[in-house]
Amino acid sequence: MLRKLLFWSFAVVFPLPLVLTYDFVATAPGPLKFYIFLGLIAYAWWLLSIVLSVRPSWLDRFVGLPAIYGLHGMLGVLAIIAAYVHRDYSYSPSPLARDLGDWGFYGALTVLFFSGFFMSGWLVDRSRLILKTKGFLEIVFRHQLSVWIHRLNLAIVAMIWLHTHLLVRVNQHFAFMMLFDLYTVAALGIYAWKKWIAPDTYLRGTVISNDALGGSTRSMSVGLDSEAATLQPGDFFFLRFEGSSSVSKEWHPFSVTDDNRETLTFTIRQHGDFTRRLDNVEAGTRVRLEGPFGRFESIIQGRAREAPLVLVGMGAGVAPLLSLAAAHHTTREIHLLWAVRSPEDAYYRDVLKEYESAAGSRLQVTVSVGRFRREDIANTLPAEAITKGTFFIVGPNPAVLANQRLLRRMGVSARRIHQERLTM
Ligand SMILES: Cc1cc2nc3c(=O)[nH]c(=O)nc-3n(C[C@H](O)[C@H](O)[C@H](O)COP(=O)(O)OP(=O)(O)OC[C@H]3O[C@@H](n4cnc5c(N)ncnc54)[C@H](O)[C@@H]3O)c2cc1C
Repeated sequence: MLRKLLFWSFAVVFPLPLVLTYDFVATAPGPLKFYIFLGLIAYAWWLLSIVLSVRPSWLDRFVGLPAIYGLHGMLGVLAIIAAYVHRDYSYSPSPLARDLGDWGFYGALTVLFFSGFFMSGWLVDRSRLILKTKGFLEIVFRHQLSVWIHRLNLAIVAMIWLHTHLLVRVNQHFAFMMLFDLYTVAALGIYAWKKWIAPDTYLRGTVISNDALGGSTRSMSVGLDSEAATLQPGDFFFLRFEGSSSVSKEWHPFSVTDDNRETLTFTIRQHGDFTRRLDNVEAGTRVRLEGPFGRFESIIQGRAREAPLVLVGMGAGVAPLLSLAAAHHTTREIHLLWAVRSPEDAYYRDVLKEYESAAGSRLQVTVSVGRFRREDIANTLPAEAITKGTFFIVGPNPAVLANQRLLRRMGVSARRIHQERLTM
């Protein structure tokens, strides 16, 4: 909580140097100055949003990727509000500056609505109908196309940058313009570094095996060129397959399924364009891996050793939970609940049996065909697990939200529930 507060405070402070410098050097009338401040705040937040989109691994360890994407989205909304007031109440003698400002504003508004619908779960995860509509529209607006539309924000930032440079009220102040350009170059420089230079420093490996599991899932093992030294149980990577003509070169996130740091095993459910093509990835295919990401292990380390862990996985969502179970089944009390669609989808029964026999009575595994209902959970978990346990839920977004609501109704406090949703 404190970390998130610090993180959000940084976003509040981030535009201040720009605002204070302009306040110091400019002599515009008071109300107009205020509306210019709002424009500067909106611009600074757009830049910060771009910086957050590079998802630095160290920041993920500090607050978690959902918090990073949460602030990224929220800054987009807040910047639009600030830009709206700025646009409505300030004036400019330069028609080009005015036009650029207007195009930037309407462009940002359009991209915000588009991304809110296609790239975030804020709306779609809360209504079955909207989720279905999104699924239908994704026949055309595939994830990668959405990513490209989202990148129009870079063109919008360029427009606003030029808009500012054309305004005499602003561009006459050399010191301020230096700072303004420094902000811009730093943010865009970080973005360019992430896109073109950083991937050369990522982990690399080779596909060792790629086998079918159950009806529509695969287990893929990747032998790394060098050990994943910072990997923690429950972590995930973004993977890109290189030199394979059968799958696109998009980055997709998948969780590590055990605690091996030299050979990473991923459990991948095949339901979309990219994952369905993974059948064709052959042993020997080179893979690049961005990460590791994840906060599950540090949450566990912050809990008392006697507090039970309750791991609730849906389908392939069991992957990070299995790696937590692999790391902790001999030292902690664990209840693992795994919901699958059909009996053949319970492909890790044997692995779980092995962990169970090594754990003595510490690990209890319950596999359910179909989702867990309230009475199933009440009958499976001892009272102490419900009152003191730390819960980790992983699966498709609507199922995670439904389980979270169910647990809350059963008396599990929000701060003991942690989740990972399998879409972004
Ligand atoms: C943190 C995290 C860990 C995950 N771990 C696993 C795992 O261990 N096993 C597993 O089977 N699945 C996992 N997923 C889900 C997996 O990444 C998606 O199912 C997969 O990328 C969908 O690709 P697709 O093109 O086949 O499906 P599509 O049908 O095209 O997409 C389905 C949905 O997946 C999301 N998605 C699509 N492409 C991407 C992308 N490049 N990056 C992010 N999201 C995308 C979109 O929200 C989309 O609506 C994880 C997701 C996240 C966020």
